[in-house]
Amino acid sequence: MGIGVGPSNLSLACLIAEKGIISNQELAFIEANERITWHSGQILPNATMLSDYVWDLVSPVEPTSRFSFLNYMKDKGKLQEFLISGIKRPRRSEFEDYLNWSARQIPFIEFGRKIINIDFNIEKSLFEISSDIDGEEVLEFAQNIVLGVGKKYIPIFNYPKSSKVILASDFMHKIISPLNLDDVVVIGSGQSSAEIISYLINNTCVNKITWITKAASINDIDNSPFRGVAFTDIGSQKHFAECDNLKNTLRNKEKPLVNGVDPSFSEELFEDVFYWSNREDKLFEVITNSTVNSIGEVDGLLNINFKKEGKEKACLYSSLAIICTGFSSGVHSDILSDNLTSILKQNDITENYEFKVSTNSSMWLQSNNIISHGVTDSNFITSPSRNKRIIESLGSNKS
Ligand SMILES: Cc1cc2nc3c(=O)[nH]c(=O)nc-3n(C[C@H](O)[C@H](O)[C@H](O)COP(=O)(O)OP(=O)(O)OC[C@H]3O[C@@H](n4cnc5c(N)ncnc54)[C@H](O)[C@@H]3O)c2cc1C
Repeated sequence: MGIGVGPSNLSLACLIAEKGIISNQELAFIEANERITWHSGQILPNATMLSDYVWDLVSPVEPTSRFSFLNYMKDKGKLQEFLISGIKRPRRSEFEDYLNWSARQIPFIEFGRKIINIDFNIEKSLFEISSDIDGEEVLEFAQNIVLGVGKKYIPIFNYPKSSKVILASDFMHKIISPLNLDDVVVIGSGQSSAEIISYLINNTCVNKITWITKAASINDIDNSPFRGVAFTDIGSQKHFAECDNLKNTLRNKEKPLVNGVDPSFSEELFEDVFYWSNREDKLFEVITNSTVNSIGEVDGLLNINFKKEGKEKACLYSSLAIICTGFSSGVHSDILSDNLTSILKQNDITENYEFKVSTNSSMWLQSNNIISHGVTDSNFITSPSRNKRIIESLGSNKS
């Protein structure tokens, strides 16, 4: 059973369907939403992917698969125009359409069902999965599960539940158009914050933008090929094989691969900011080395409390704050029972992303293996090779 169908478990479903190695009756992939929504709150107009289309759901391990992005283009009758266009990074909205095109061809994916609890029944040696179906709790059993529920946006500081504070993950759902505010504070310095600032500059009438980050500067993501090897199966397995001390050091060194702004986007944004802030009525400020500790709201105004390294605590006042401080992993713990959590704690994850729970039952984990397999694991471009390993270890469990 696949729990959650985002790009990671969808890639697994495509690879299984392609090979026909497990019968449809033995498979169930359950997704809470009615369709695949790929970070829908962040599909900003014209936003493109951060990875090239060849790193799709299947091609890195099965380049001849019918689920490739190029076959999607062929199916739409647009293959040759697409190849002529030279586009490497399609728009995010198009990639989301590709994900849904792939999902529609797979009979064992079920949409609109939320899993509310997963336990392990020791006597039956099976996972017990509870879903919410029309308000009723329904129980079913599975021998193996692959958890692909993604990550959650959980800012680590307190903030008021107010329309004046927007999380990046909700940006397109919550931003009011036309936005006619005096000032906005954007917290965090990754790709999401850069895209949101570009949106504010190009689509709203905001007069002042303050960009605050704990980083020493607005950094570029490192796209260089020698570093990029970390996104391959060889890269993840190398990370896995290192001792815990070195893994810790490596994780910090690998962060520039995923934290920061895409270099070409950064150049475009810099130019936008340059011309925008040359206007008399506009003000743009970057505050670095500063950690936001909390946001409060007094008399309709937000106070954003922060501490700059080596300085006293300080406060910014603003009409709107947008929090872009990234994801927190561990969303899976919301649906895993205490019993299953303690069984998992007694087991180490294998190089094949597997937690052995009993002799013939296992749980595999998607996109949450930063500690064991490195920071690149949270990007879906690593999914096909991860899923190849999951399929191989599933096969050896069955035999
Ligand atoms: C704006 C943005 C752009 C990105 N662009 C790229 C990119 O270009 N390339 C790249 O490699 N990575 C990119 N990433 C990284 C991102 O992590 C991956 O794109 C990808 O979404 C990870 O896939 P996933 O399936 O593991 O998780 P998710 O995409 O989060 O999917 C998890 C799924 O599980 C479902 N679910 C959750 N809980 C339950 C439940 N209880 N029951 C049933 N279903 C449930 C959710 O509804 C969701 O559909 C981007 C991230 C962001 C935020």
